[in-house]
Amino acid sequence: MRDASAAALPIRIQGVTKAYGRVRALDAMDLDIRSGEFMTLLGPSGSGKTTLLMVLAGFTRPDAGSLRFGEAEMIRTPPHLRGVGMVFQNYALFPHMSVAGNVGYPLRIRRVPQAEIARRVDWALETVQLGGYGARRIDQLSGGQRQRVALARAIVFEPRILLMDEPLSALDKKLRERMQIELRQLHDKLGMTTVYVTHDQREALTMSDRIAVINHGRLMQLGDPVAIYDRPANRFVADFIGESAFLAVAVEDGEVRHEGRPLRLDAPPPRGGRLLLVLRPERLQLVASDPAPDMNHFAATVEGIVYQGDSFLLTARLGDGTEIALRDVVRRDTIAALPKPGERIVLGLNVRDTVLVPDGEG
Ligand code: ADP
Ligand code: MG
Repeated sequence: MRDASAAALPIRIQGVTKAYGRVRALDAMDLDIRSGEFMTLLGPSGSGKTTLLMVLAGFTRPDAGSLRFGEAEMIRTPPHLRGVGMVFQNYALFPHMSVAGNVGYPLRIRRVPQAEIARRVDWALETVQLGGYGARRIDQLSGGQRQRVALARAIVFEPRILLMDEPLSALDKKLRERMQIELRQLHDKLGMTTVYVTHDQREALTMSDRIAVINHGRLMQLGDPVAIYDRPANRFVADFIGESAFLAVAVEDGEVRHEGRPLRLDAPPPRGGRLLLVLRPERLQLVASDPAPDMNHFAATVEGIVYQGDSFLLTARLGDGTEIALRDVVRRDTIAALPKPGERIVLGLNVRDTVLVPDGEG
């Protein structure tokens, strides 16, 4: 069928606002999505992800703002004329219709000729690895197979934009992880611009070209997975993605200090207001007391230590009372020498892992 290069469109979201009573589901949202990109909308429940996807699909009309696919303004275009395929959170399949009936449905409402429908349905089912399942009934399928049917229905008319709302949330962990890889491979093969919604940070990090982190209908940070994880822009992102403790630090004479000593940084600190140091368990290290030049050091007292098979989790308290955690791999030769509760230790944090964020909502 069509080659991947012709199959995509950029999306420009500008100032999109949608209120339900006093709730601002979307609050002046701006977001540019590149042609052919796999973009994930990541945020907690109620942050506005589904509302934004419904605005893109045309099922929700925003109160204000502009939405363009390529050059064309879409706000007033009805859903079936937007060229968008959608996988809904609950799949929304017709339970009494056959698999082929479900997958062919978007083509029948577009009045595509019968022979063409049959050919495209076969293609879509092959593409999601359900070749030969056309005659089955939906209620004879497993959860994973239903998910594939919903996907086949979304791609059957070869949309230039594919929208997916938490499509894997009903599947068990093993199948979910396999489908993450499969969905990403399908995107790479078909090449359409994809907007994927999840509240699962690991899923977002696994699948995406870029991640838009959303909270209270606002964009908190936009970036590739490494930037989102390693360089969170604010407390919300640092807290929502990965684990972190936060240590309040002082800014004096342009220097960032903790307990009077300057912190070594590899980038200028964010400007204005109070700053917090992001302390991730897997970035902290147990170090000898003589300081290494490429590290920042923190004295702490061990609170507890838990053996977790492949790793250990140590909890400790810094001088100012901040509780932190450290996770590291368990090695046969070091396991016996791990510190005990009550012991004084020194924690090292590499300069490149020393990340500051502004205190507050972001
Ligand atoms: P998410 O998909 O991130 O969980 P939603 O977009 O579904 O979030 O919802 C964002 C906010 O808008 C929530 O506070 C939700 O309760 C509210 N909301 C969404 N749809 C409606 C609706 N049809 N009527 C009233 N409130 C709604
Ligand atoms: Mg939702």
